[in-house]
Amino acid sequence: MTAELHDKVCLVTGASRGIGAAIATLLAERGGKIAVHYGSNEEAAQAVCNSLNGDDHRIFGCDLADAASAPNLVERVVKAFGRIDVLVNNAGIYIAHPVLKVSGDEWLQAWRQIFEVNLVSPAALCQSAAKAMATKGGGRIVNVGSRGAFRGEPLGPAYGASKAALHSMSQSLAVALAPDNIQVFAVAPGFVQTDMAKPLLESEAGDGIRGQSPLNRVGTPEEIAEAVAFLASTAPEFMIGGVIDINGASYLRT
Ligand code: NAP
Repeated sequence: MTAELHDKVCLVTGASRGIGAAIATLLAERGGKIAVHYGSNEEAAQAVCNSLNGDDHRIFGCDLADAASAPNLVERVVKAFGRIDVLVNNAGIYIAHPVLKVSGDEWLQAWRQIFEVNLVSPAALCQSAAKAMATKGGGRIVNVGSRGAFRGEPLGPAYGASKAALHSMSQSLAVALAPDNIQVFAVAPGFVQTDMAKPLLESEAGDGIRGQSPLNRVGTPEEIAEAVAFLASTAPEFMIGGVIDINGASYLRT
């Protein structure tokens, strides 16, 4: 077993299921001490925590629908473990809000809710974690974006915009934090087999979505986790500011 994250304290948001649970699992296999964050499903987070390799892992609840509570999440992690070495901003939401079908109130509410969870809370977590990392000599931050930032999200434009902003924030912070030995990266997954994508993948659009890739399938949480674990551990520091596509060649940008 490789242990490139030996004793590194890793906060993974949205680790109660889906991609976040796979990331927590892999970071623990690589030796990390995992702060398993959840929004509402404590039971699922505890089950993930119990399943992790090693025993120095803990769960932390925090509703990221209000970014003002995000710094306290980092404070609790640092209090429990004494430090934070890796932050993975994985928690995210998708709400459909087709522009011509929803009311003005629904439209605005979708933009506000999505941006708070997908952008403003990660921004707050980045700042709190970076301040804590800087006092201990550095760390790594990986933000989970989306292919939707590049390809468009016609039924959820706020989702695509929030992920484009998350990519941009990652790039700006990569520059701002490099002098303090904090490396910032982003990944941009295409469709992945999780609860978030389930309704679409199980609908009549499902085959078309799988067909977007020459592999004729969507990604697995474990494939995204492999890339995140690499960026969180052994990726060359010269990769900072990168937004790594993981989409099975379903969308090729130049
Ligand atoms: P998922 O299965 O829906 O899981 C979402 C996770 O985020 C859960 O752990 C959930 O925690 C947490 N979360 C949601 N709202 C929250 C809130 N208000 N406060 C705190 N935590 C909250 O999602 P996923 O598919 O694994 O997606 C993970 C990330 O990958 C997201 O950022 C998503 O945008 C991105 N992504 C997904 C796909 C895809 O096709 N699935 C594609 C590209 C990018 P609780 O359940 O405990 O509340």
